[in-house]
Amino acid sequence: SKPIVAVVGRPNVGKSTLFNRLAGERISIVQDTPGVTRDRIYADVEWLNHKFTLIDTGGMEIGSEEIIQKQILQQAEIAIETADVILFVTDVKAGVTDDDRQVANKLRRTKKPVVLAVNKVDSVKRDTMDIYEFYELAIGDPMPISAGQALGLGDMLDQVVAHF
Ligand code: GDP
Ligand code: MG
Repeated sequence: SKPIVAVVGRPNVGKSTLFNRLAGERISIVQDTPGVTRDRIYADVEWLNHKFTLIDTGGMEIGSEEIIQKQILQQAEIAIETADVILFVTDVKAGVTDDDRQVANKLRRTKKPVVLAVNKVDSVKRDTMDIYEFYELAIGDPMPISAGQALGLGDMLDQVVAHF
């Protein structure tokens, strides 16, 4: 069966935006269907003839801050258990946060491949230097992307499918 790629990361880094961007038009069709949940979490994605199933582990983030903190770590655990490749999303505008460090600590203990995406790099000029602080997470080379502006996604996907 198809490889599974799980998107993980704390709330508000842009996981759902990235998921919807990679899932393409199929998602909007689902959203237009009455009775179907808005936060769909599975999508079939194809990149350079590599087909995979993408999971947005944050698709159901609800509750208090304390509950969400637990959820972030549970999501990382689910990803470690079910995914073939883990796509760890962070946010250049927020920089490295404690929640990012906690997720990274968990992901570093798995042998599964992890691709570190630094999202919201909307402008090459302004934000490129800021991605270097994400080396602190010790998850490998941070890949600058903008899910919002659809930038850097090809290079990021090249890294993902290289692990299949
Ligand atoms: P999630 O909680 O990780 O699923 O994050 P969302 O996808 O819901 O996005 C959180 C916020 O970040 C929303 O306001 C998005 O519009 C915004 N966002 C997502 N991607 C980008 C991006 O590439 N650039 C900028 N500037 N904002 C983004
Ligand atoms: Mg989300």
